Amino acid sequence: MTKRPSQNPVRDEAEREVRGQGGRCKTPGGVAKCHVEDVLRRQRSQRPSQPAAVDRGFEIVSNRSPAAVPRALLGGLLHPVLDWFYPRHCYHCGRPLQESGARILCGDCSRDLSAGRITGEVCEVCGLPFAAAVAPGTLCTTCRAERRHFDRARAFFTYAGPAVSIIQHFKFDGDFFLGPRLLAGVLDRGWMPTDMDGAEAVVPVPLHPRRRRERGYDQAHLLSRVLAQKLGCRLLCGVLVRTRYTSQQALLPVERRWDNVRGAFAVRKPARVRGRRLLLMDDVMTTGVTADECARALKRAGAGHVQVLTLARTAP
Ligand SMILES: [Zn+2]
Ligand SMILES: [Zn+2]
Repeated sequence: MTKRPSQNPVRDEAEREVRGQGGRCKTPGGVAKCHVEDVLRRQRSQRPSQPAAVDRGFEIVSNRSPAAVPRALLGGLLHPVLDWFYPRHCYHCGRPLQESGARILCGDCSRDLSAGRITGEVCEVCGLPFAAAVAPGTLCTTCRAERRHFDRARAFFTYAGPAVSIIQHFKFDGDFFLGPRLLAGVLDRGWMPTDMDGAEAVVPVPLHPRRRRERGYDQAHLLSRVLAQKLGCRLLCGVLVRTRYTSQQALLPVERRWDNVRGAFAVRKPARVRGRRLLLMDDVMTTGVTADECARALKRAGAGHVQVLTLARTAP
């Protein structure tokens, strides 16, 4: 029997989506049960909440650009003229972007970014790339010395070259669209690490509210939104929280990083993570201390399995 449409086309669309999935989310492990309310919640969470910039597919206009407002107002009609007055530049090398569709990196830097993709052997646990060939299952020095609370961590790129430029602009220069664009691009290319197990929900590494106010947005949350959408699984917001304002890890010597984040995270709604397989999302992993402390809080709250995914990973 065909169900009559309700007065709410958004709900109808969500119901169609759930029916199309056989009532189940398309997570890699195929384990998450997905309901209409979850789809509606996901759609709400995916609505753009940053009106300060315009993102039209490949035609991205930064909110830093002096031409952002006229571009937004005039749509695509006068872009060639605006490009002449306000040429777009490669985020890494600074050269004007000439190629059609290239709006973030020039061709050379795009190729450099792809070359920095982590595809070789990595530490089985933390994903640290090895400089030389190793046997499968080999652990790095840190993972041999101490047990990690996360089950596995992986990253798309080595933190070098164009990846650094994009992530630095993404985190510190207000170009909030760069990280989600990069993540969507790599996921669309099927670059998700193949040894990641299926997850039921994505959890962003949280920012302290004060840091979020300073930055104007939460970069891990923006990434998590894209990841959850692409994987078709839940996004858990406000569940893992940062309870203490901490110094930026990257500015601290390695020996002080653990003390800096120790006890800085808490789980507000343990029932939402209990027994779940979670995917923790962040921009960069360096020592892995922040991810480990987040995983520790999630596991103490009952999470069954915690994996970590970052855009980039610092090389040894
Ligand atoms: Zn370039
Ligand atoms: Zn390791």
